[in-house]
Amino acid sequence: MPELPEVETVRRTLKNFILHQEIESVEIRYQKIIDGDVALFKQALTHQHIIDIDRYGKYLIFILDDYAFISHLRMEGKYNIKPTGTPYNKHDHVIFHLGNGNDLRYNDTRKFGRMMLVDKDNYRHLPPLSKLGQEPQNAQFEDIYEKIHRSSLPIKTLLLDQSILTGIGNIYANEICFRMRMDPRTRGKRLSKKRVQELIDISKEVLDEAIAQGGTTIHSFDANGIHGLFQVQLDVHEQKTCSICGSDIKKITLNGRGTYYCPVCQKRRY
Ligand SMILES: [Zn+2]
Repeated sequence: MPELPEVETVRRTLKNFILHQEIESVEIRYQKIIDGDVALFKQALTHQHIIDIDRYGKYLIFILDDYAFISHLRMEGKYNIKPTGTPYNKHDHVIFHLGNGNDLRYNDTRKFGRMMLVDKDNYRHLPPLSKLGQEPQNAQFEDIYEKIHRSSLPIKTLLLDQSILTGIGNIYANEICFRMRMDPRTRGKRLSKKRVQELIDISKEVLDEAIAQGGTTIHSFDANGIHGLFQVQLDVHEQKTCSICGSDIKKITLNGRGTYYCPVCQKRRY
């Protein structure tokens, strides 16, 4: 599942290919991808130019002349660029025919991804984006501390709660706990102010490093399209031995998610 760094990589790559293009028409082959009125979505986008692509958390926001729409890739969503007329893949669900003779094709084997028209000038302050917490890159300490300090939930579960910090998924939550040298089961209320500040700083650091790696790994679309998934250097997620002490990495299930940690380096304090 793409997390913030992967979605950022998709954004940057897409911008190189589709900026300033006119959407001549939109074809929707699986209606449920569109949240809201499908006819209105098609009508609004037709003959609009793609002015910019923004991102918040794991959402892409396509900014057009008069409208904007958001796209969430969920589990398997990805984009392809293909010359118009190329036969469709059976999982191509939304096709934007562009003015330059190419299609931007949204492909999604699991069909969980969603697109939705949003208010171009105010999307950040309306649902669903208004329900999201801050990105680690711009997080306000007091707000994050308040939410973490009053919770008895494990810190890893809190890292996955998109209303506290947004953009972190299971892989990076494991990595952040490892870099904190903190047992992922540690309860939020056990974290001091100093540790919460570290948590914000390390979250930012881990995501920034992954964005940088994505930028160097992915330069364009490959045969499989742009999904942003790239090989990131991971310290603990799906690893066998700890890169610091050499102990075996343990795997447990926490709130239904595979959780990896080093029992020696990530001390139990809860
Ligand atoms: Zn270790």
